[in-house]
Amino acid sequence: MSVPIHPLVSPWGRFGLYSFFLDAPEPAIVDTGVASSPVEGMAPALEQLGRRIEDIRWILLTHGHVDHVGGAHALWELTGRRAEVVLGEADAPLLRSRRAHVDLYLDVRQQYLRDPEGEAAQTVMAAAAISGELEPTVLVRGGEQLDLGGGVTVSVHAVPGHTAGSVAYVVDGQDDVFVGDAVQVHGAANGFPGYADPAAYRTSLRYLRDVVRPRHLYLGHPYRTAAGEPYGVELDAGQAQAALQESLDIEARVSGAASRHLPQQTASPYSPFAGVAEELGYTGDPTLEPSPFFTTMHGYRQEERHTHG
Ligand SMILES: [Zn+2]
Repeated sequence: MSVPIHPLVSPWGRFGLYSFFLDAPEPAIVDTGVASSPVEGMAPALEQLGRRIEDIRWILLTHGHVDHVGGAHALWELTGRRAEVVLGEADAPLLRSRRAHVDLYLDVRQQYLRDPEGEAAQTVMAAAAISGELEPTVLVRGGEQLDLGGGVTVSVHAVPGHTAGSVAYVVDGQDDVFVGDAVQVHGAANGFPGYADPAAYRTSLRYLRDVVRPRHLYLGHPYRTAAGEPYGVELDAGQAQAALQESLDIEARVSGAASRHLPQQTASPYSPFAGVAEELGYTGDPTLEPSPFFTTMHGYRQEERHTHG
């Protein structure tokens, strides 16, 4: 049987957050937006489809970022705590604890943003955007198969890079692939691709392009092309290959620029990566949180340290 897929959009500040409804015998939702998303975005959209949010049996989380797991607890409550909550093991701390999001900020972006109010702001943000702390009921690492009833199965594939615990969900037989933020192209609103581990990101993109080969690729945000045109969040096979290849090409350019410019303290808002921003022609605001620029550049800096001691 074929499983209809419906995108569900929930508003969040200057963003629209995307979740996807899999109309399977045991219905599933991929990603949950922020705390308000289940009530404000998902429930009315499901109602339009003649479906009820309390009937959701699978909450499939692609990774642990706030705008993907923030609504998980609220959605789980709406299902009478009956839905399975699935998340990559390495990202599970981000669902278990709001503080883990603040710590991630302090460990990486804070050292470049030098914003003394940053920790307080992140704490307030995590309190508002995350509906509750929750232990996933199913921890995955890739290689698992989930049974949504009626012969419908979903395979889990590890696609680390954007985060360590990023996974893709594939509806078996119809090759619908949900990747969350694992395919960044040029990045979303901020205009820069975000990934914590460049080498893993590259490997995951190649794996998606060459092995998974999506018939339909569903993205977590309307990522943009080099020309600034947003891709939709639903890509056909040809668009999927193009987005994967473009993501790899962009990563190669960022990697090249990162290797040519040693980090140095400057007065630039891109400090210590001003040279990289200049070479790439990146003129976005790197202080707009969440800043993919610093997350990504920190990743190359770590890679450099590991390579050269
Ligand atoms: Zn993300």
